[in-house]
Amino acid sequence: MSSTAERTFVAEAVAFLRRDADTSVPTPMTRHSLDGFPGIEVLVKDESAHPTGSLKHRLARSLLLSALVNGRIGPGTPVIEASSGSTAISEAHFCRELGLPFVAVMSASTSPETIRLVESYGARCELVDDATAVYAAAERLERETGGCYLDQFTYAERATDWRANHNLAEELLSQAREMTGSCPAWIVVGAGTGGTSATIGRHVRYCGSESRLAVVDPEGSAFYPHWAELNGIEVSDENRHVRPSRIEGIGRARVEPSFVPAVVDRMFRIPDEESFAWMRENRTLFGLDAGPSTGTNTAGVMRIARQMAEAGETGAIATLACDSGERYAGLFEER
Ligand SMILES: *Cc1c(COP(=O)(O)O)cnc(C)c1O
Repeated sequence: MSSTAERTFVAEAVAFLRRDADTSVPTPMTRHSLDGFPGIEVLVKDESAHPTGSLKHRLARSLLLSALVNGRIGPGTPVIEASSGSTAISEAHFCRELGLPFVAVMSASTSPETIRLVESYGARCELVDDATAVYAAAERLERETGGCYLDQFTYAERATDWRANHNLAEELLSQAREMTGSCPAWIVVGAGTGGTSATIGRHVRYCGSESRLAVVDPEGSAFYPHWAELNGIEVSDENRHVRPSRIEGIGRARVEPSFVPAVVDRMFRIPDEESFAWMRENRTLFGLDAGPSTGTNTAGVMRIARQMAEAGETGAIATLACDSGERYAGLFEER
């Protein structure tokens, strides 16, 4: 049962988040040709242009909206999240705007720069030694504080409206159509929660679009072997071995509930060194200063371009710049 004060808080918080979505400008898309691949072009949608610097801006807004309308957050409810970085930054921003205390449960290996950014929004970081222990630590904190654990890995696919409502897929398809006159042949993204790939895969079906979805996955992630097995593709012992990802934002040591394998048309395992190399190459290729997961995306774009060229196909490949390279300055130095 909720009091009048609680309902007023929820109404105002929801109105704020809806206004934020309604007034946000679409993130920019740029169009590029690809040397050696005539007839194939690349469309890059720059999600680092959000006020909190990554594609997690949309997710944070959707997760908070969902928790508010589900009666899980009232005035002063502590908000908790298990996050490797970008999600915590975006949620910390929105929680400060809504006047809610926020605690990010992170692995102790999280970069000091990320921790500093989260704290700059007035949030608290709780560090756990083992990356796989973040879920249990967040659940414990929720119980102890009577808070709301947003749980991005469970709720990302549900919190985002795959039909429309400013979702990434709707924006991407409409920008691509405007630029090229048709839907992209392929859309290439990575999976952290799996929410982005789920929204795109569902939206293209909802629209009757012919776009296909490819997901790139880093070394050690559990997503690729899971998808491969479901599709009767043989998985090497090396690709079956799971461990925490070295590419921030993507790759998980367990198959997250928000990953929807049935909407993924093709999947690629990308070696980490290749992700870092393409991350640096993104500067010359697309004029992009983006993070490692965007390098993984480019590695996938190159694989799709090669496969399209071999099949004599032409068209556009769309992908995302997920976050800016700013937080990864050290990785840009040639090793
Ligand atoms: C979260 C994230 C992704 C993956 O998006 P999901 O929707 O969680 O699968 C990719 N890159 C970065 C930098 C991220 O933070």
